Amino acid sequence: MPHSRETASDIAAIGPLIAAQRAAFARQPRRPLADRRADLLAIERLALDHEGDIAEAIDADFGGRSRNETRLVEIAVTAQAARHARANLARWTAPQAVPTPLMAAPGRSRIRHEPKGVVGIVSPWNYPVQLTLVPLIAALAAGCRALIKPSELTPRTSALMAQLLADRFPTDQVAVVTGDADVAAAFCAHRFDHLFYTGSTRVGRSVAEAAARHLSPVTLELGGKSPVILDADAPLKRLAHPLAWGRFLNAGQTCVAPDYVLAVGDRSEAVGRAVIRQAEIFYPEVGANDDYTAIVSDRHYARLNAMIEEARSRGVQILQAGHDAQAAARTRRIPPTVLIDPPADLAIMREEIFGPLLPIVSTASIDAACAHVNAGERPLALYVFSDDPRVVRHVLDATHSGGVTVNATMLHLTNENLPFGGVGESGSGAYHGQRGFEEFSHARSVFEAGRWHASRLVAPPYGAVFRMISRLALRS
Ligand code: NAD
Repeated sequence: MPHSRETASDIAAIGPLIAAQRAAFARQPRRPLADRRADLLAIERLALDHEGDIAEAIDADFGGRSRNETRLVEIAVTAQAARHARANLARWTAPQAVPTPLMAAPGRSRIRHEPKGVVGIVSPWNYPVQLTLVPLIAALAAGCRALIKPSELTPRTSALMAQLLADRFPTDQVAVVTGDADVAAAFCAHRFDHLFYTGSTRVGRSVAEAAARHLSPVTLELGGKSPVILDADAPLKRLAHPLAWGRFLNAGQTCVAPDYVLAVGDRSEAVGRAVIRQAEIFYPEVGANDDYTAIVSDRHYARLNAMIEEARSRGVQILQAGHDAQAAARTRRIPPTVLIDPPADLAIMREEIFGPLLPIVSTASIDAACAHVNAGERPLALYVFSDDPRVVRHVLDATHSGGVTVNATMLHLTNENLPFGGVGESGSGAYHGQRGFEEFSHARSVFEAGRWHASRLVAPPYGAVFRMISRLALRS
């Protein structure tokens, strides 16, 4: 199908922007640290000075997004990432001396972290500012230039970011391309020195294919079903709060939200009731509650309701916080919902939920829970609740996931000292803090040979000296 005039012009803008950034990178291949620090400060100020505008734009895009949550998950997270990068930039960029083995002696070996060049960043709608600006912080810390394609599902936020970034950076350093999925596909078809994608696994696959055509390195921050394993001894009182917080923040539209619970023993209903009681304390009202976020679009709203209806039609026990369902529907909100022991073939147990629905499934043992996790794709996050360190260790040893939080949910991603990323179908590559800086850097190996060098002794014609040196090399 031919593109609309707007899409065609968005697509046409991409090539010249990349060319301009490439030319600027060639003119200044190593951006001075003082300038990088100023770039990072500009991002921090952008978030802090425009909190109100950002909260308003996201609220309008979602049709209701808690401003308190926006403060926490967009503004604070972004500002903290920028501050952390600024404070650590000198250490991250310092050439790293490494030992030199006998074979290469005498000489000096070191690693230089150099900017990869012009990078592409494609971001989703669920945390539209954090998931755009935190990768950008890593790219700017590394000294790269960046072209950004934010989500078409949050158009006001994308337009606002485009304007705020244009006010602070020349387009040959940072530029934003807006538009629909066709623009995103055209964007990813260009050659970048690194492509950083956050979004669904389905689209991530085509992004990886597009990057492979240019042999461009790619980071894939994808999704999936992140499980919670509850040991039989984990006290209800302590686990209800983190489960309800993790699942219902942003109405469950969070990549690392607990997707389903595997409860050891026969207590799925007791756990479910505790989670709903906690949700009612968090959100005494749903329809007109500014702190309970709406579902982003009619399509996602219909998808989530279809999951509930399918479960209902199969006789699954459904617990919902006691809310006025009509008032909730008018504002595209879905009340916090728990489903007790849904069968494995339901969509809610097969697909990433990405909404405020939490299935809780009884399981016989910790080993059965680990086997369930291992039977599926490797998840982005895994949560385990147990007071027994041996159980925690066993779950860590027996499963795979991008990251883990023990006895809480989602908190591992708030620590800039921990790499954040997936594994297998939930993604590859990682960022946050130093790991993000490294993702956008090339680790360049430099060996400086001494004036006289041992390689002279291992050159042909091979004689007695060669034999002695090579015997030493075999042993060292
Ligand atoms: P999405 O994949 O539909 O869209 C994300 C971005 O990809 C958008 O900017 C979109 O324009 C672009 N896009 C769409 N089609 C494309 C194509 N053919 N080629 C290239 N780009 C294309 O994802 P979404 O619905 O916005 O986000 C939800 C998904 O993202 C969930 O699966 C969630 O788990 C995942 N997610 C992961 C993380 C993480 O950090 N790992 C964070 C947030 C969301």
